[in-house]
Amino acid sequence: MSPHLLDLTFDELRSRLTADGLAAVHSKALWNSLHFRAETDALARKDLSPPLRRWLEARLGTEVFTDVLPVAAETPSGDGLTQKFLLRLADGQEIETVIMGYEGRHTACLSTQAGCAMGCVFCATGQMGFVRHLRPGEIVAQVHHARRILAARGLRLRNLVLMGMGEPLHNYDAVMHALEIISDTRGANIGPAKISVSTVGVVPAIRRMAEEGRPYNLAVSLHGSTDEERAALIPANQRWPLAELISACRYYGEVTQRKIFFAWTLIAGVNDTAAHAHRVAGLLRGLNAHVNLIPLNETAGFAGRESADASAREFHGLIQESGIPCTIRQRRGIDVAAGCGQLKAVRARGRAVRGAAGSAA
Ligand code: SF4
Repeated sequence: MSPHLLDLTFDELRSRLTADGLAAVHSKALWNSLHFRAETDALARKDLSPPLRRWLEARLGTEVFTDVLPVAAETPSGDGLTQKFLLRLADGQEIETVIMGYEGRHTACLSTQAGCAMGCVFCATGQMGFVRHLRPGEIVAQVHHARRILAARGLRLRNLVLMGMGEPLHNYDAVMHALEIISDTRGANIGPAKISVSTVGVVPAIRRMAEEGRPYNLAVSLHGSTDEERAALIPANQRWPLAELISACRYYGEVTQRKIFFAWTLIAGVNDTAAHAHRVAGLLRGLNAHVNLIPLNETAGFAGRESADASAREFHGLIQESGIPCTIRQRRGIDVAAGCGQLKAVRARGRAVRGAAGSAA
């Protein structure tokens, strides 16, 4: 069984304790400390029962672990609404977690992998390549980090988007396990309706989410209206072409009766014309869909530029006229490199520059 306590659901934690001879009742106290209070030190509480304290003292840090992720870098935005963290995992890998403030609510954007294998050309994480999947506890720990930051300001984390580093559906089992833990009403209690899983279109996993009745929102990154133009931005389109992707979305919609959110990153002259908007409307016809238009976060490794406001407005109007709800998303934290992977890329470039300066000296 996993030695990382944050990897475990409530039932798994209880089994872990009872296998070691503790009464099941102790699992409630430990779960409360780990997940309801999101305490950084499981031994800190004075009111721990003696058997549970002895169990923790004998094992914590040697046989069992908790994942408090140290902050390697932190960048608040100028508007004060976005806070981005580079968190360090036990093996030294660094991942990004972002807290975004909207009117009356706060959303955390989580990473699900160190790096990413999907290679989307406009994405700083895609430009880095894949390192490894995150464990469930490493996803849960990001939520607890965000909750602690907000709690210190008297605020509560209410929403999650799995839209940080990595393709969530490429790490399906760990992600679903983590979401089960995070949405447990006895712990972090973030309701499934407040959780969005974003994908570039891993078709078998979309179908699996439908078949397993996973109750989270699904957000699909579209970005291209033909296979040729989409594959140029999202290489995964070669494996799962548009026809297969849209067919999987129709299946998901029929089985779950849920709305699907489609993300469209607007790139000037690449995918922001009226012809693109008409093709998108055609692709999504008959689906219970909502299109979110996202201004491009420009990266050093991609020559694309953000669309002009007028193009974005025209695109928005055409999608709406087709009967599909559409929103131009507010961009959060452009000044903190809030696009996925950008803080890590900025830090890596800084290290390279410092290294080059050091060797020159
Ligand atoms: S956009 Fe998402 S799926 Fe594509 S490379 Fe970046 S992290 Fe991976």
